[in-house]
Amino acid sequence: MPIPDVPQPLEDLLQSTRDLRDALDLESYLQILSELAAQLTASEGASILVPNEARTAFYFLAAPRLQRDVLRTLDVPMIGSAAGRVFASGVPEIIGAGSGADHFFAQVDQLTGVETRSLAVVPLVFKGQTLGVLEVLNRQGGADYTPEDVAILEVLAVQAAMLLYNDMLEKRLEKSQSEAALLDRMKSDFIAITSHELRTPLGLILGHATFLRELVEPEYHEQLDTIIRSATRLKTIIENLSSVDNFQSGLASLRSRMVSIKRLVEDMVDAFQPEAKSRGITLRARLGPADLWVDGDAEKLGLALGNLIKNALQFTEPGGFISVSAENVPGYVKISVVDTGIGIPSEDLTRIFERFYQVQSHLTRTHGGMGLGLAVTKAMVELHGGRVWAESMEGKGSTFTILLPLDAAQNAAAQRVFTP
Ligand code: ADP
Repeated sequence: MPIPDVPQPLEDLLQSTRDLRDALDLESYLQILSELAAQLTASEGASILVPNEARTAFYFLAAPRLQRDVLRTLDVPMIGSAAGRVFASGVPEIIGAGSGADHFFAQVDQLTGVETRSLAVVPLVFKGQTLGVLEVLNRQGGADYTPEDVAILEVLAVQAAMLLYNDMLEKRLEKSQSEAALLDRMKSDFIAITSHELRTPLGLILGHATFLRELVEPEYHEQLDTIIRSATRLKTIIENLSSVDNFQSGLASLRSRMVSIKRLVEDMVDAFQPEAKSRGITLRARLGPADLWVDGDAEKLGLALGNLIKNALQFTEPGGFISVSAENVPGYVKISVVDTGIGIPSEDLTRIFERFYQVQSHLTRTHGGMGLGLAVTKAMVELHGGRVWAESMEGKGSTFTILLPLDAAQNAAAQRVFTP
């Protein structure tokens, strides 16, 4: 919309800024900007040139429409061109009608059929980086370019440079995202191969150690029990490693039947009670009278909840409290593990569910662990279509919540009860 009493050049400049605000794609916007540069400086044409990756030559990102196709095929050398000089020095240049043609113009002129008589070139600089140049050529009426023309070009050059800079950042971001995805894939492959290769010899160690224990005198049982315990521990680690990494195979091995959540919570609390007692921690199940059922795999849900209780015990000082509760919320069963432990810094709350992530390596090292427990919990819960998250206050304690979709049949029954 034109603004009354605003001089035309300013109006045009305003329009270009509005175009920028509407976020056109880079090349379209640079084309508009170069055409505006030509218009505001009464030039025959304008171009935007940017260096190639090797920084040996420029190519045209924007050029006068009539010559655009031909100019796009052209490499403008860094050395021996006005664009190259301005790019290197960062200082605008005005080349007058009588100053003698740059040897490069002749090639461009031949190709485009337009004779270069006068030229003004400004660098495109943003945050200290020179990203290209803006050129206008052949001021109408044969006059030379003025410092005012250069000032106009510099205003437009900042807009162009900002866009180029932004584009460069976006490309870098895309590159690092795809590099991170590649690394993540490599990590997954490594885990899959290693855990597969370790499983067979470990199975043999466990099998033979168990067999030997039956054969040898009781005085050797202690040593063999240590071997069996350690090998079993290794087996759990390997199972954890492979279960966090393969959603598809996890889904395939999901044994689905009705699981009593009340029973699951009670069983888990009972299983960890001896450890809680030995550490002087009160561990309680808090359950309502009604049972809650979930369509799922009891073993995998047990693993998910067990890891939360194990962590709560690990990160709570003697004398602390841990409660495990389950309740019905619309459409879901909500299981919470609340502790009065050391808590988790807020910046780590989402990251702790990543594989191998630990809040403080020196702290967790004293507790053991590989930073896999929560990743396993997350994988198991997601296999059931659920969610898990943590809330915490440092020094006060943490709450881990699992939300599991209720059995469809129970949902329907609940609705029938409440439907008048
Ligand atoms: P690990 O097996 O090493 O404990 P997890 O994936 O189970 O790995 O947990 C990741 C990290 O999250 C832990 O190293 C710990 O720093 C933090 N964490 C988990 N649960 C708790 C909790 N209940 N209280 C405080 N910190 C916790």
